[in-house]
Amino acid sequence: MSDLTLLEKWFGILDTIGINEDGSTSRLGYTDTEDKMIEAVVGISDECGLKHYKDEAGNTFIHNGSGDGDYTIIGSHLDSVVQGGKFDGVSGVLAGLLILKKIEEQKLNIPVKVGIFRMEESSVFGIASVGSKLITGNLEEASLKKASNPESVSLYDIMTKRGYSTSPAMIKNLKQYFELHIEQGRVLEAKGLPLGIVSSIAAPVRMWIKFTGNQDHSGATPMDLRKDSLVGAAELITALETFGKEELSNASVATTGIVRNTPNVFNVVPGETLLGIDIRGIDKESRERVVQNTEKKAAAIAEKRGLKCDISRVSQSDPVKLDEELQKKLSKTAEKLGIPHMVMPSGAGHDAMFFTKLCPVGMIFIPCKEGISHSKEEHAEIEDIVTGCKVLWDYLLTS
Ligand SMILES: [Zn+2]
Repeated sequence: MSDLTLLEKWFGILDTIGINEDGSTSRLGYTDTEDKMIEAVVGISDECGLKHYKDEAGNTFIHNGSGDGDYTIIGSHLDSVVQGGKFDGVSGVLAGLLILKKIEEQKLNIPVKVGIFRMEESSVFGIASVGSKLITGNLEEASLKKASNPESVSLYDIMTKRGYSTSPAMIKNLKQYFELHIEQGRVLEAKGLPLGIVSSIAAPVRMWIKFTGNQDHSGATPMDLRKDSLVGAAELITALETFGKEELSNASVATTGIVRNTPNVFNVVPGETLLGIDIRGIDKESRERVVQNTEKKAAAIAEKRGLKCDISRVSQSDPVKLDEELQKKLSKTAEKLGIPHMVMPSGAGHDAMFFTKLCPVGMIFIPCKEGISHSKEEHAEIEDIVTGCKVLWDYLLTS
């Protein structure tokens, strides 16, 4: 069976798991649906004659039992956002599996493990890459206790209930880490390239900003006597856009993704508005300028409008540079194979970034249709996954 047909078959097995009526997928981290995804991939690996084990945080590793020495990880995740797509994360896991299967079939002495990392998506608890952060020393137990879902259940409680450790042992003996991922942007498609080699990964600062004013009758309260929290919030949302645009040349971006307005009814002046803000960049100083401008502006708006303003940073991780040697080697490999490519930064975060303190990390992007991701419209060509695998495979064989 060709690599293409095999990958199509594997995607077909996973396609029905966590599928919604509209065709999108909801495979949230540390849920039964994520478990089913992992079980399905483990099932495929069993058929390929491979072995697997789970670590204390619930991450799964597939391998061929080749010794206890240093090994290469090819990893990604199987969870999705609510109403996400089928390619985010899954592409990287199946790419790893394809490569490991080849190694096993050809009885090569190349120690590789496929890593499936838990809860990469932050959409419910606000913390991304939980599984990979925990085993690389990038996440404190206290943060898991603080992070809770809309039902006020903490991530700590969920993990403990499922029998996982919230302070697991660190991962050891890593030689190098690779991840293949859909780009989740439009750059490769616009340039007509099948492959990107990632140079650096942007990281977010996430913050809550809450404006509190007076909740009043919308008919009986004259315009000059109002303390409308939503109008203050609106002013900040547009200012945030400006601060982001000012850093365009440094590739920082700023988004207000959440607006929770109270009481959110026709006939009441809003009394409390909570904004969830995400500011990202590959240049830490540029990103910090956006954060500080936002904090200052929020305080100024509150002062001007007689509102109360509370600001808290929920999470903050550092942008990372990926291994330059590996970038060069992957570029050379692609060149040798005649695969057009470019070196590019990643605007989205990935499990890969948390391994950079432990070993050299290389990352490969493949295009996704119109750059759409975290949506049912998310689509990548399996042929491009095969192309990415060719580069990784050749690199592993010749390095
Ligand atoms: Zn992903």
